Amino acid sequence: MARRGRDPHWISVRHATKCANCKTEVKRGSRAFYYPNDRRMLCEGCGEPAAQEFAAAVFDEEHNLCL
Ligand SMILES: [Zn+2]
Repeated sequence: MARRGRDPHWISVRHATKCANCKTEVKRGSRAFYYPNDRRMLCEGCGEPAAQEFAAAVFDEEHNLCL
């Protein structure tokens, strides 16, 4: 699967930040799901379902199920 640069992905946060969804603090060094397009970060709890949804969307796209 070709990796697209602007796809959301998991990162380790370098500075403490807040989840864009639930406003929980995301501590330095913990995992966050990052959206490069709008520079949003989600905590692990919010990011997990979002990541699965994104993976499902990519799957649909690659199999032309959304057409
Ligand atoms: Zn959250």
